[in-house]
Amino acid sequence: MLNILVLGGTDEARRLAAALAGRAGTHVVSSLAGRVRDPRLPVGEVREGGFGGPAGLRAWIGEHRIDVVVDATHPFAARMTASAVEATGRAGVPLLILRRPGWQAAPGDDWRWVPSLAAAAELLPEVGERVFLTTGRRSLPVFAGLDGLWFLARSVDPPQPPAPRRLEVLLSRGPFTVEGELALMRDHRVDVLVTKDSGGQMTTAKLLAARELGLPVVVVRRPPHPAGVPAVGTVEEALTWLETTAGPAWQG
Ligand code: NAP
Repeated sequence: MLNILVLGGTDEARRLAAALAGRAGTHVVSSLAGRVRDPRLPVGEVREGGFGGPAGLRAWIGEHRIDVVVDATHPFAARMTASAVEATGRAGVPLLILRRPGWQAAPGDDWRWVPSLAAAAELLPEVGERVFLTTGRRSLPVFAGLDGLWFLARSVDPPQPPAPRRLEVLLSRGPFTVEGELALMRDHRVDVLVTKDSGGQMTTAKLLAARELGLPVVVVRRPPHPAGVPAVGTVEEALTWLETTAGPAWQG
């Protein structure tokens, strides 16, 4: 039996769990941080909540006889990834990072790359006045001091203070359509979009809408990839890596 821990919270993690479900000789546990109130659950066994840092994850891996860990968390979940690197290193268990590729600007795009959310907040007053903020509810405190700007913040769950003074919150979960994003940005007279470089298809519509409207987009760069850890960009590549790592006995 190959025991696989999938660190999840993404579409890729759910698709990987689905692809592994029912495979002979395979037991998959998907792990979620447990912070979204009504998460989209993967098929199969699910656990929720933090492990208690690298030491807690190391202990969990031992207790559950985990043979391999796939970190399929969001590209910006840097603490979880660092914890996975340390814990699997200590446990002597292989780790694969499954990270969808980042977005690429195309002709017509006006993207301003920044290294962090704080840098995005610093740049914003030079770029626009009516901001569509799509960086997640926990990023709002970073923008709290910008009283000269108006914000439309979209998130899955309601944000907590501190938050920008002039703020409208839109509770919604993707995927979104280009038509919908165009209408939203027009109706709210948005003049700048802020996004993380999350990648993937679920939330590209806002970028296409911004291009069509000729709006600037402030794009927050991903945290660096941990050195020396194998990484793939698709679920299919992850399955191939698992087959290679686990050996032919497991493939059937
Ligand atoms: P983070 O800052 O790297 O994680 C903070 C802590 O939350 C981790 O140290 C860990 O606690 C716990 N945690 C995170 N992911 C976990 C998982 N899959 N299973 C168990 N514990 C987990 O990450 P985050 O930005 O808070 O993201 C949390 C979750 O939301 C992830 O599953 C991620 O894929 C998803 N998500 C994040 C974003 C984003 O923009 N960051 C967007 C969409 C979805 P312990 O140290 O106690 O183990």
